[in-house]
Amino acid sequence: MAIHLPDNPARSDVLAARPTLWTNPHYSENAIADATLPVRPSDVDEARENWRLAPLLEACFPELQATNGEIRSDLVPLEAMRKALGYDGAEFGTLLVKADNALPVAGSIKARGGVYEVFLFAEWLARREGLLKAGEDIRRLAGPDAKAFFSRYTIAVGSTGNLGLSVGVAARALGFRATVHMSADAKAWKVERLTRLGVAVVRHDADYTTAVENARIAAESDPTIYFVDDEQSRQLFLGYSVAALELAGQLQARGIVVDAEHPLFLYLPCGIGGAPGGVAYGAKTVFGDNVHCFFVEPVQSPCALVHLMSGSADLVSVYDVGLTNRTEADGMAVARMSAFVATVMRRMLAGVFTVDDPSLFRWLLSAHHSQNLRLEPSAAAGFAGPDFLVKHPAGKDFCAQWQIGGRLAQATHVIWTTGGAFVPEDRFQAFLRTANEIGGPT
Ligand SMILES: *Cc1c(COP(=O)(O)O)cnc(C)c1O
Repeated sequence: MAIHLPDNPARSDVLAARPTLWTNPHYSENAIADATLPVRPSDVDEARENWRLAPLLEACFPELQATNGEIRSDLVPLEAMRKALGYDGAEFGTLLVKADNALPVAGSIKARGGVYEVFLFAEWLARREGLLKAGEDIRRLAGPDAKAFFSRYTIAVGSTGNLGLSVGVAARALGFRATVHMSADAKAWKVERLTRLGVAVVRHDADYTTAVENARIAAESDPTIYFVDDEQSRQLFLGYSVAALELAGQLQARGIVVDAEHPLFLYLPCGIGGAPGGVAYGAKTVFGDNVHCFFVEPVQSPCALVHLMSGSADLVSVYDVGLTNRTEADGMAVARMSAFVATVMRRMLAGVFTVDDPSLFRWLLSAHHSQNLRLEPSAAAGFAGPDFLVKHPAGKDFCAQWQIGGRLAQATHVIWTTGGAFVPEDRFQAFLRTANEIGGPT
């Protein structure tokens, strides 16, 4: 299918794979109130309440003792890196990093969605089969009889890597069998780590969308397989959404106000859209129209950008507009976004910007040197956000249209760094070498 993208200032940049900012012409006030959407603000509160699972997580993962079983990340000021990025001017307001790269259990933002969905399924299954009675301590599901029970079931998932890691780790911790269908982009170390955990890894010589399709078909024919569906899952989406409540508490603890005079901007790396979509949705439920969420994608894999820009009812992929989906940012190497996320984001997303691979490596290096952050390439994508918003013509137009231009100095920008803690040392050193070879300014 060849698609003609509509006339738009960003169109020629997108087609030529040049970094750019597209702002969403359908962006609307109070889009969250649309009753036809497949999710409700109350779903986010419900997902938060589901963290009654925390004692079970604490029992399964010793590293969660410090947080009583909650999977949380720090919110840290962008300090030394501000200057390196050219963000020292007052017009860049307050700059913060939401360090999901260091999330426990899975080492990426997938810990919020994948672990949550697997544990929720375990609880549901245990209740259905009478293993967990009303009022009984949830930690019973970490015991030996529960492990034996769960070992009769398989959790399956398709993944470019990190979702497979989070689902595989969670499934094995409870005693489930686990199968991860990996795309060709999946990094060898992620496959090795899963294999060591006893996860069956099926490698597909194909892209992410195909890996997911194969996994879904395998699961449909077998009632003992539970499929974590990255393209359609509400649970994953809602697991991610709870991060916005965490962020709200952290901003408040820092005395940072978010209101009409003090807007908040989120920069969220996007693959299929579940993680950034969930966080953006959660943020809209908390901050309403005072938060503006932008996705960021690689120049060759801007699946959310091309689909939302096309205005098409059918999903448009990056191949349809002649792009390759080739990038070192494996967490974002997705050619076709989730239809579910596209529906929810259509009027809620402020825009999407794109970044090239060399820039990802430069920011990865700079984040390591100046902020001691351990990032994988995908996780560094958000650093371009404030520059696009404040300096790019489309960003200036956006600020003018939404009466933000005069308030930039009192705005807060949150750059979401989405993964990296589990990258093995030799792989991380190789990233730094690549960055040094690329050279050039940050
Ligand atoms: C998965 C992932 C993303 C994007 O999340 P999606 O749900 O696929 O949109 C971004 N960065 C990293 C490091 C990831 O693992």
